Amino acid sequence: TLKGKNAVVTGSTSGIGLAYAKALAAEGVNVLINGFGDKDAIEAERSGLETTFGVKAVYSPADMTKPAEIAGMIETGTSAFGSVDILINNAGIQYVSPVEEFPDDKWNQIIAINLSSAFHAIKAAVPGMKKSGWGRIISTASAHSLVASPFKSAYVTAKHGLLGLTKTVALEVATDKITANCISPGYVWTPLVEKQIPDTMKARNLTREQVMHDVLLEAQPTKEFVTSEEVAAIAVFLCSDAAAQITGANISVDGGWTAA
Ligand code: NAD
Repeated sequence: TLKGKNAVVTGSTSGIGLAYAKALAAEGVNVLINGFGDKDAIEAERSGLETTFGVKAVYSPADMTKPAEIAGMIETGTSAFGSVDILINNAGIQYVSPVEEFPDDKWNQIIAINLSSAFHAIKAAVPGMKKSGWGRIISTASAHSLVASPFKSAYVTAKHGLLGLTKTVALEVATDKITANCISPGYVWTPLVEKQIPDTMKARNLTREQVMHDVLLEAQPTKEFVTSEEVAAIAVFLCSDAAAQITGANISVDGGWTAA
């Protein structure tokens, strides 16, 4: 059981991150949530975790582009709960553009949020995990940690890098009862994906069903979206004792995308 363990989940005010926070809280894990959004909505999420699951929940507004704030977030978790046993690196953004027009600032921002933030958080969290003799590091990578799509140079680079970072850390902490793994989803049904549908319908003169099946799910053999809950269930399993020997792995949850 994970009861009494303490987790930090970055980018957990929405989508997959929020699902991780709820799934861990349901297992009795205290959770630090992080990310941007409406102040009242975030407070409602935080207090909802406490009342629904009977765990402690705290919020850190740390900006994942700022190394000092990332270290501060791990400190906040450590002082609120006593330790950070589970770190989930999940914050991420996307930007789509041909490489020759890709804005420098968007490149830097995506590398910072989708890749470097995981380095800074791992660096800050590993000493505490070593001290307590148990740890789980999980990073949300993507099918784009294994394969590319055009016009996503920064995102694909960051996700491939995140897998390399994860494998390296897994080797370094292999004898410390700490595991480090990636979960690599295909297209997940999140507010982010849902919001793209009306624009794509207009831009390509397609119906909602055509956008979902012919555009978004083109690469996904099952022709179904992954759910955030399905991704979160993998994280809960990776935190369990049964997964103690799974480390340095990349677990695909992509409806067969990367098998093709
Ligand atoms: P989302 O937009 O719903 O959530 C992203 C979260 O990151 C939000 O909480 C947001 O506030 C936070 N965030 C963004 N910039 C931040 C910053 N600078 N500092 C702190 N927090 C920040 O997106 P999602 O779909 O849930 O994606 C979560 C992760 O899953 C990302 O790493 C994404 O690349 C990955 N992923 C998503 C999909 C998908 O289809 N949705 C597929 C594969 C991988």
